[in-house]
Amino acid sequence: MKLIDDYELVVGLEVHVELKTETKIFCACSTRFGARPNTQCCPVCMGLPGAMPTLNEKTVEYAVRAGLALDCRINRVSHFDRKNYFYPDLPKGYQISQYDEPLCEQGGLEIAAESGEKRIRITRIHMEEDAGKLIHEGNDTLIDCNRCGVPLIEIVTEPDIRSPEEAVAFLKKLRSILVYAGVSDCRMNEGSMRCDVNLSVRKLGESTLGTRTEIKNLNSFAFTAKAIESEYARQTEVLENGGIIEQETMRFDTQTGKTSAMRSKENANDYRFFPEPDIPPLVIDDGYIELIRRALPELPNEKKKRYQKDFGLHNDIASVLVSDRALAEYFEAAAKLTEHKKILSNLIATELLRLVDAQRNDTFTSPISSENMAKLASLVGDETINSSTAKKLLSEMFDKDIDPCDAVRERGLAQINDREALLPLVCQALTENPRAKKDYAAGKKFAAKAIVGRVMALTSGRANPSLLSNIVEEEIKK
Ligand code: ADP
Ligand code: MG
Ligand code: ZN
Repeated sequence: MKLIDDYELVVGLEVHVELKTETKIFCACSTRFGARPNTQCCPVCMGLPGAMPTLNEKTVEYAVRAGLALDCRINRVSHFDRKNYFYPDLPKGYQISQYDEPLCEQGGLEIAAESGEKRIRITRIHMEEDAGKLIHEGNDTLIDCNRCGVPLIEIVTEPDIRSPEEAVAFLKKLRSILVYAGVSDCRMNEGSMRCDVNLSVRKLGESTLGTRTEIKNLNSFAFTAKAIESEYARQTEVLENGGIIEQETMRFDTQTGKTSAMRSKENANDYRFFPEPDIPPLVIDDGYIELIRRALPELPNEKKKRYQKDFGLHNDIASVLVSDRALAEYFEAAAKLTEHKKILSNLIATELLRLVDAQRNDTFTSPISSENMAKLASLVGDETINSSTAKKLLSEMFDKDIDPCDAVRERGLAQINDREALLPLVCQALTENPRAKKDYAAGKKFAAKAIVGRVMALTSGRANPSLLSNIVEEEIKK
């Protein structure tokens, strides 16, 4: 995005992520997505008088895991607070959250920004319960309480983000890390990851932050980017016209692509936070944290370094392969079956992903088995086929998962590595095109390319490209 005049964009994100525990945070109700409305509720998650919450230990384990994966300090003592507000999808009238003593603080992650690698600092991660869902049908609004009490972590960043691209890069990296850590599916389309954008602008070089607005509940990367662009445009225009920014809570209309005011921003004291009386402070020890740390899987950054070191992969290719846990697992499964790991990495990161991307939703899947992918890489690696045949085969395999070795054998796709076979074809092409030699002699080097192209066509793309170029260079000079 281009910045208007000299206004700097300042964004901090609050991201809600559902933890994939079997049961809710304070009761034993199921968290399964998509069940019939209001079939997964009990007196505890409905907040009926006298019901007593008990903390689900799995929630703490997942939240600590997330905190460690995001480089946070894990507080040995934290506690829950009541955040009081009225909303139709919150029958309790309050939400149990963590306010002034959250579980995790002072973390961060690195994104690839325009200016290079950049760290986005994470202020805090706390645990809380989700609210229910409102379903609007015509003039009616229906309430589904199945989601009440589903465990969430809220990840809050420092106002370190300076463009919509950085915001999306942060969200993608965050999702990738949390999926790796196994704490959430982070499916934005199912609402298991949602994002609030806090945004202000200021004149370049100014040191104090401007007044911010907060745009609630964005449920895709694209909408997050659009909401930032549109709110940035709105705020700069207000300021340019001599107005002032009100601290407001906004919504983003996906139809019009515009932000609009929802309510004036509530302050912390509007919520009348107080320590949750029914849940004792959460005290965890070093041993517990160490156990969780040791059980953490290899995370994308470490994985990337290992790919570069062990397989000699290019930085960009390695970054692509580790960006999605399922993709990395696919690559590793195939890499075990071929020596030509670098060729494999290129085939997957460029050719395969181009085909997959067109159909891609949230996580990587491939119609080509890792066995067949490995065979294809070996065929290229041992020079049985050239790369243009490999590309054609790959797109065929994408439609139908055939064994590339069979296809090469049955259809005679093997690369022609034989000088004696190529030489007559080069001579033929030179006779067909008598100007080529003259052009070449006159310094027009592209004339050789035309001959190479012609012989490639004569062999249906099967000629060994470097051998063919050598023969053409020799013959065209004669
Ligand atoms: P709350 O929204 O609950 O009042 P905070 O005051 O902690 O919470 O701020 C929440 C988010 O707003 C954080 O991500 C923070 O980085 C961001 N933020 C705070 N001030 C600004 C600002 N002036 N401009 C942009 N983002 C801001
Ligand atoms: Mg907020
Ligand atoms: Zn319940």
